[in-house]
Amino acid sequence: LEAKEEFSHKTRAMDVMRPRKNDPPLTVITQDSMTVEDVETIVTKTTYSGYPVVVSRASQRLVGFVLRRDLIISIENARKKQDGIVSTSVICFTDYCPPLPPSSPSVLKLRSILDLSPFTVTDETPMEIVVDIFRKLGLRQCLVTHNGKLLGIITKKDVLKHIAQMANQDPNSILFN
Ligand code: ADP
Repeated sequence: LEAKEEFSHKTRAMDVMRPRKNDPPLTVITQDSMTVEDVETIVTKTTYSGYPVVVSRASQRLVGFVLRRDLIISIENARKKQDGIVSTSVICFTDYCPPLPPSSPSVLKLRSILDLSPFTVTDETPMEIVVDIFRKLGLRQCLVTHNGKLLGIITKKDVLKHIAQMANQDPNSILFN
């Protein structure tokens, strides 16, 4: 019994989150330095349901979370209906968008589609608690941080896979009680 309990406490958010070791890094969007073309490339080359938005790649400070479908729709609409939005337009998720030189194309402001408080846990959080949070709050995804820096993501499917794995290894896992 004790061993089982120990086992169930062993798995932490860092063990379930993506990216795993040797995976390519998390696909993120920066808050005010990517162009329409940059973001279009990301949504074309990846199929993730959403992307964390960070202050900068170097800082990895989390600003929010944006859904792929909202990005696609907003960019498509802006390209059709908003004057001056072109491939080289900068996308800005911040409240205040710094003015650019007069010669540069219009900025595409997308703050309205940003979820400013995505759920986060630290990498040390036991998976038991993460599973509980997913169940109780009906989360679709949860971001993982370490010392305030974005580290990874856990989706509902990742959690379900983790539960199935636990069940295989330990049919009486307390996760099912
Ligand atoms: P699902 O888990 O339902 O298939 P996604 O398509 O969003 O949802 O994610 C697929 C896998 O990629 C999951 O294992 C998830 O942890 C991971 N993932 C999700 N978003 C990102 C991202 N922005 N960058 C890297 N990996 C991601």
